[in-house]
Amino acid sequence: MSNKVKKLVLIGYGGMGTRHLGRLKSVDQIVVDGVYDIDKNKQNEAAKDGYKVYNSFEDVIKNKSIDIVLIATPNDSHKELAIKALKNDKNVICEKPVTLSIKDFEDILKIAKMHKKCFMVDQNRRWDENFNMIKKIYEEHSIGDVYEIRNYVQGSRGIPNDWRQLKSKGGGMVYDWCVHLLDRILYLNNDVKLKSLYANLSYSLGHEVDDGFEVTLLFENDLKVVLGVGTTNFIKLPEWYMVGSLGTMEIEDFELNGKYVTLEGELTKDTIPVEAGAGFTKTMAPRNDGSVIEHSLPDVKTDVCDFYRNFVNWIDGKEDPIVKNTEVMRTMNIINKIFESAEKNEVIKF
Ligand code: NAD
Repeated sequence: MSNKVKKLVLIGYGGMGTRHLGRLKSVDQIVVDGVYDIDKNKQNEAAKDGYKVYNSFEDVIKNKSIDIVLIATPNDSHKELAIKALKNDKNVICEKPVTLSIKDFEDILKIAKMHKKCFMVDQNRRWDENFNMIKKIYEEHSIGDVYEIRNYVQGSRGIPNDWRQLKSKGGGMVYDWCVHLLDRILYLNNDVKLKSLYANLSYSLGHEVDDGFEVTLLFENDLKVVLGVGTTNFIKLPEWYMVGSLGTMEIEDFELNGKYVTLEGELTKDTIPVEAGAGFTKTMAPRNDGSVIEHSLPDVKTDVCDFYRNFVNWIDGKEDPIVKNTEVMRTMNIINKIFESAEKNEVIKF
């Protein structure tokens, strides 16, 4: 394909679809041709917002001038839409979770290969600033060798009152959030194998799908990662917490409140015991002796639009995909193990 500007049609004019359209305004290599949504009200909304609206998905994929179809519909519909689009020689960007089974994902990849088309999953949270701060400190060993990372995303508003509450649609917080959190941790530890995982899911709201989870992953480099999501947490845990041999880092929230602290003195220098509750302790005595330095969070610059730019460059043969399908496959395999661990209440060993 030539390096011409690519024409894109968005499928699904909902929460995420409209966000994509906003972001695509800053991507010179892509022009939005139009929108298709199965819901007439959404079609009207899109028309009112000034977009060309297609009457059917068939009309989109039969239009030979369209290069890219962007699928932002509920999770159970991705497979069928993606396969139809690929069979009609469209490149496809697909929302996460890519599919609800490995077999469905394999079927998509087979068709993409057969038609020599690019298929990439929107793992956009790799561009979150807080994750990139963690990544920088982790990779630069600024707090020494990291052996524990905790990433919690918590709120108190339950699961949105839509398809996310339905099992058949791929609802629940594992498919909604764990896919992101896991993708990032695996991205950080691309070449490190997993030793084991243990997961619990919560059903405290009484839906047929999970409203939260906690997953503990142990990697072969002895890194322990805990990923947690809660939808009934009126007080949140810090979003990121990372412990290394020479320091600790905390990022409280998406607003990027946080810091990291590094050890400047000796780790085990003796100290005076402090009163603590009904007892006393030396082990847990605070470090108010000048033996640690507090640092601001590092500066990082991220631009989620690089995802779309990379997709176009991949189509044009100029770059490899940022989000590789092998990575997505690894994530989806582990998601299955998370469900298995929670159902059996067992540690899964790899
Ligand atoms: P939504 O319910 O707000 O929007 C989905 C839209 O798709 C609706 O307008 C609906 O009418 C339309 N739709 C349903 N089936 C369709 C079909 N067969 N053909 C055409 N249109 C159809 O949902 P959402 O929150 O935008 O989520 C959509 C997808 O985006 C999901 O896969 C979700 O997991 C993903 N998502 C990703 C992120 C992210 O950060 N990457 C954030 C939110 C949602």
